[in-house]
Amino acid sequence: MNLILMGLPGAGKGTQAEKIKEKYNIPHISTGDMFRLAIKEGTDLGKQAKEFMDQGNLVPDEVTIGIVQERLSKADCQNGFLLDGFPRTVAQAEALEKLLMDMNTSIDYTLHVDVPVEKLMERLTGRRICPVCGTSYHVIYNPPKKEGICDKDGAKLIQREDDTAETVQNRLEVNIKQSQPLLDFYANKGYLVTLNGDQDINQVFKDIESKLEEIC
Ligand SMILES: [Zn+2]
Repeated sequence: MNLILMGLPGAGKGTQAEKIKEKYNIPHISTGDMFRLAIKEGTDLGKQAKEFMDQGNLVPDEVTIGIVQERLSKADCQNGFLLDGFPRTVAQAEALEKLLMDMNTSIDYTLHVDVPVEKLMERLTGRRICPVCGTSYHVIYNPPKKEGICDKDGAKLIQREDDTAETVQNRLEVNIKQSQPLLDFYANKGYLVTLNGDQDINQVFKDIESKLEEIC
């Protein structure tokens, strides 16, 4: 089964990816891992990608698509794959369609783990870290016994710059702007499956399982 996984930061995509990979025995292919592998293996495309990255530039689509093609041709993708973080643009999605058609296959589903923005704000801004031992807490989902204080060493918990409301809101806005055209693209193709991500992680996975049963 050929799957694409989408969802905003904090939607719980990583957890679902792990579960899908385990149950269906398909590789979880994230963009970062894919680039690292190509660079490590020293393929021509890997070398080209590295040059762009070393100069602080975006890797152009031709190179990225080539790397995707190399990755999807590997033996572990025989039963399918779960793409995560790719495609990022409609142009890439179109290139992927063509690539898969050349491989005589296609995407089965684009799974979108959907969580309302205000819930994502709550999840992402609630994190607190102990500056002494590094333990991570969440004000709602995993609070310390005494508010603002580390259970282990009594240190005062801090909120990292990345987790402040303003930073999180910006990050979400950028992601929404980027992902909406892709969601529309896959909805038009008829493979978009929108999952309610605002529920227990096991229930989200059950919803995924019942959808995937249709193609197993
Ligand atoms: Zn601590």
